[in-house]
Amino acid sequence: MGEPPVENSHAMLYFSDGSLAYAGHYLHEGLHPVHTHSFVEVAVMTGGAGVHLSLAGRQQLQVGDVILLRPGVSGVDPRYPKVVEIEQRYATGRRQDEIPWTMLTGLIVHELGHSFLYHHWRWTRSDAFRRVFGEVNKAYRVKDESWVDFQRRKVAIAPVDHVSAYAMQHPQEDFAETFRFYVTRFGRLRDLFSELGRKRKGVVVYEKFLELHAYVRTLRGY
Ligand SMILES: [Zn+2]
Repeated sequence: MGEPPVENSHAMLYFSDGSLAYAGHYLHEGLHPVHTHSFVEVAVMTGGAGVHLSLAGRQQLQVGDVILLRPGVSGVDPRYPKVVEIEQRYATGRRQDEIPWTMLTGLIVHELGHSFLYHHWRWTRSDAFRRVFGEVNKAYRVKDESWVDFQRRKVAIAPVDHVSAYAMQHPQEDFAETFRFYVTRFGRLRDLFSELGRKRKGVVVYEKFLELHAYVRTLRGY
């Protein structure tokens, strides 16, 4: 069997011959650069050994493993922290309708939160950061990413110790969500804190905002 009719443009793999589907054997040799797909890929491991890297973490693969890769997901790759990828369904909506502008900006700010953290990774090693956000190197649970309401500008009542339910997924998501509220509320802590008070949020939520605020101030030099 010949080479798959797949080409790579800006780290996006696509069918170069207009195919809708393709099946075949493929031998992965050595490293493959990070990429996304314009298509759904089902890969069945029939031999050898390998590691699959994704935003969900690092997975050691064994013969018989099947991985399902869907077309581009939103995210920031730690090796390319200046690039923010936005999943198409967040740009065009679930039924190809227009999605609200606040949703798109909320998602972008969330992803910029990941990018910000990758740019300031040393901060995640500090005691102050770890105390409020936790251990960012903790393995991601592989999860089916549910629809996240990035449109919300108000902090969720539950859970008590996080700004949103999604923030509970992982310390990096906790940071990205806290960053999103901090930015979309223009860093107005007084206003944010009175809302946290009304919603009976835990002390640690205030501390997350204070830690971020203090860090941003050191970056700005005041
Ligand atoms: Zn995220």
